[in-house]
Amino acid sequence: MKHSTVLITGASAGIGEACAEVFAEQGARLILWARRSERLEALGKRLHAEHGTDVITEVVDVRDRAAVELAVSMIPEAWRTIDVLVNNAGLSRGLSPFHEGEHQDWEEMVDTNIKGLIYVSRAVIPGMVQRGRGTVVNIASIAGRQAYRGGNVYGATKAAVKMLSDSWQIDLNGTGVRVTNIDPGLVETEFSEVRFRGDADRAATVYKGYTPLSGRDIADVVLFAATRPPHVALQDILITPVDQATVSIVHKQL
Ligand code: NAP
Repeated sequence: MKHSTVLITGASAGIGEACAEVFAEQGARLILWARRSERLEALGKRLHAEHGTDVITEVVDVRDRAAVELAVSMIPEAWRTIDVLVNNAGLSRGLSPFHEGEHQDWEEMVDTNIKGLIYVSRAVIPGMVQRGRGTVVNIASIAGRQAYRGGNVYGATKAAVKMLSDSWQIDLNGTGVRVTNIDPGLVETEFSEVRFRGDADRAATVYKGYTPLSGRDIADVVLFAATRPPHVALQDILITPVDQATVSIVHKQL
């Protein structure tokens, strides 16, 4: 990873922040995107102090195609050779049955999880193709493989991410660019707090009674995929806590 350039979306929290940490430990230089600038700046400063990491932070809302394209075009010349793209920015909103769900929540998830990922990837992947190498890691979800009560549109967005990963593996075949799809199960991050709009107590119950995955557990897998020799592609990974058998069967001791 030394001298490699890694672009991580949604780096201000959770899995994205943990990815920034593991790549920094390996000597990569980082381009970190999210909407919360203070968080990004604090992270960039800390990684530079602790690991000597060169970091560019940029406030980018992945839902804004023009902003994404501008941000990619503004990447300094010497940083343009992005070796690893981690498409991580994403969220869920609400847990209502479909017939009671809100259009606003659904649009936010579709715009972020699907359209945002498409905008970023369309802007970054051509450079990888030109250079004949690169790793794209898409953070999808177990929710894209298996339905659960109230998961409806969130699950659909993650199934779309998985299908994009599958189709890019075909489209990019022969270019030297590899695509890894990662489907995490329950990871303790700010994810549930965002889903329940700041209801910390409700969010905490999601992770009670068993040991959930940490952002670091996922970041380690992202790093592993990105550091395989160039002829090796880890196409599809499902990772859960040991106590999680399926998307909704979780052994809890409460
Ligand atoms: P998190 O702690 O809430 O982090 C989400 C990150 O995405 C934040 O950095 C957030 O930053 C960023 N983000 C959200 N909307 C954005 C936007 N419009 N533009 C740019 N950045 C945006 O949640 P997480 O668990 O780490 O989630 C990361 C990914 O893992 C998501 O795609 C999620 O669907 C997936 N995932 C999570 C779990 C889980 O159990 N936690 C399981 C499976 C999959 P800002 O708010 O600063 O923009």
